Amino acid sequence: MHSISAGAGRFAPSPSGDLHVGNLRTAILAWLFARSTDRSFLVRVEDLDRARAGSAERQLADLAAVGLGWDGEPVWQTGRSELYQDAIVQLADAGLVYECFCTRREISEAPSAPHAPAGAYPGTCRNLSDGERERRRRRRPAALRLRTGVAESTVTDQLHGEVSAAVDDFVLRRNDGVPAYNLAVVIDDADQDIDQVVRGDDLLTSAPRQAYLASLLGLPRVEYAHVPLVFNTHHRRLAKRDGAVTLESLQLAGFDAGGVRDMILDSVGLPSGPLDRALAVFRPEELPVDPWIFEPPETAAHAKV
Ligand code: GLU
Repeated sequence: MHSISAGAGRFAPSPSGDLHVGNLRTAILAWLFARSTDRSFLVRVEDLDRARAGSAERQLADLAAVGLGWDGEPVWQTGRSELYQDAIVQLADAGLVYECFCTRREISEAPSAPHAPAGAYPGTCRNLSDGERERRRRRRPAALRLRTGVAESTVTDQLHGEVSAAVDDFVLRRNDGVPAYNLAVVIDDADQDIDQVVRGDDLLTSAPRQAYLASLLGLPRVEYAHVPLVFNTHHRRLAKRDGAVTLESLQLAGFDAGGVRDMILDSVGLPSGPLDRALAVFRPEELPVDPWIFEPPETAAHAKV
């Protein structure tokens, strides 16, 4: 007998510092999307890159403080290297991986291929001879890139509709041996039976390449919902330097965790109070698609100086 998996949604923060209200808002929305579709809700610590000691624990504590619960233990990416390596071997066996010796600078200075979008890898190392590869290996460890067979790919997003974006020969493993985000995210989502990806819309144009990679690996498609970011009053992405934007700093400014949760719920037109109340009336199609402009309150700490 086959058991039918109900699937799962997730929140997958990079532990590079404290979460700000934008991250907390994305987490709450991811939870609402998952729970309103009877999915489990998982948290994954994306600590392959940019990890700061103690940051993941603080992020998890902040998620719990605003009332988010998740199923099972959070998964940490470090310690899962074998999974990523197996996927690279599978792609390499299919002839879809090549070594790249380019520096960032070489890539930005190389003439781009005709019709290639800005920033696309120009293909410099795609067809090196064995001898040339041998020579370059002695100078610099190789990154591994995907030998992409399409120019672009398309996904359907619940908030943005059909979204197409270019797919270049993106990096699978960096030249320091760390699996690249685009590979890890695809492997992890599939491994965790995640079939609903809700995250900030800064990653919208990464979704097509991730969906393409999943298809090459024979992994199931996921549903996407890319939710709006939070901007500062200059209409730039919210950052720590904008002032009281983390839970801790908002607490210093006099808000408690429930107050921060309510501020976030209010920004998406949902009732304040425990998250179950918002869940009861949550409708994805009613979500704003424009960024939330957040003006940080004066903190007590700031007020003193
Ligand atoms: N770890 C990524 C971030 O914090 C999110 C990745 C994802 O949700 O796919 O930006």
